[in-house]
Amino acid sequence: MLRFLLIFVYFCFTTSQGFSQKKKAKTSENFVLEQLAPGVWAAIHNDQYGKAICNAGIVDLGDKTLVFDPFMTPQAARELRAIAEDLTNRPVTIVVNSHFHNDHIRGNQEFTPFATIISSTYTRDQIALMEPEQQQWEKHHAPALLKATKKIYNSATGIDREELPMWIGYYEGMMESIDNLVITLPDIVFNDSLWILGSKRNVKLVEFKNCHTASDVALIIPSDRIAFLGDILFVQRHPWMADGEPASWQASLKHLYEDQSISTYVPGHGAVCDKRGLKSLQDYFDNIQQLTNSAMADSTQSLLLTQPIPKQYQNWYFSRFYQSNVKFLLSAIKHQE
Ligand SMILES: [Zn+2]
Repeated sequence: MLRFLLIFVYFCFTTSQGFSQKKKAKTSENFVLEQLAPGVWAAIHNDQYGKAICNAGIVDLGDKTLVFDPFMTPQAARELRAIAEDLTNRPVTIVVNSHFHNDHIRGNQEFTPFATIISSTYTRDQIALMEPEQQQWEKHHAPALLKATKKIYNSATGIDREELPMWIGYYEGMMESIDNLVITLPDIVFNDSLWILGSKRNVKLVEFKNCHTASDVALIIPSDRIAFLGDILFVQRHPWMADGEPASWQASLKHLYEDQSISTYVPGHGAVCDKRGLKSLQDYFDNIQQLTNSAMADSTQSLLLTQPIPKQYQNWYFSRFYQSNVKFLLSAIKHQE
């Protein structure tokens, strides 16, 4: 997913503004704000050419303001910060990265030096390892990918026509930001779980191992029955499987589904949902796994790769991930043999 999904953006980097100098921004073309409870907001990426790319969260802890997953482009992150500070009337002092993919971490630079950035140990290590190479790759490939995507869009129909503005926003954002990125690593790391206590509410960061990546952190707000799941959850979108482990990912989805203490879920990509969103992704895993198992048993793997996306998923975004997911699952089965 990294190569594709890492197509998110930045615009013009300027030195971080002080809180007293912040500009108020209540709306953005890059995302839509959705209040989930008093003091809790989801910032949902705008699929129409937005440059946020992933979803984010703003949580008012009473005496501290926390942002979860500060987007791909510093420009969108700057807007998020302004809105968070306007809503809570204080600077953002805690930022959480759910995992290492570019669309969830590159806004970090807009929150320093005021904020502490928190992630799992694995995620910090991966950002340090992957970002230099990833950014070089994007520098070389984003212009051609943007050009090709725009060309395809001109003659596209149906779901492709609907989805491609999202990819155009992704590549445009990448190109606008790539020369101004500053790799900004988390400065607090943890394994397993971490409570952050506030005067108004407490939140728990929980590390899920071997899901979408080897380490994905969810932010749980027990008092409001809300969970920000990062890319553990995709809603009405094909998930990116190839950096993860589908079997244990499925087990985590099942665990989350059965946990009655949470009722509202914010995915890394897609709309806020209830338990039906979790179930839908579980079913996707089951169905695609079944298709690949049958193809292996019948030795029809290459045929499966030429088949269209199953009907129930033809209107899901990230359609280009489907073939990658099938290939990944087929190779995983081969490995087990
Ligand atoms: Zn991801």
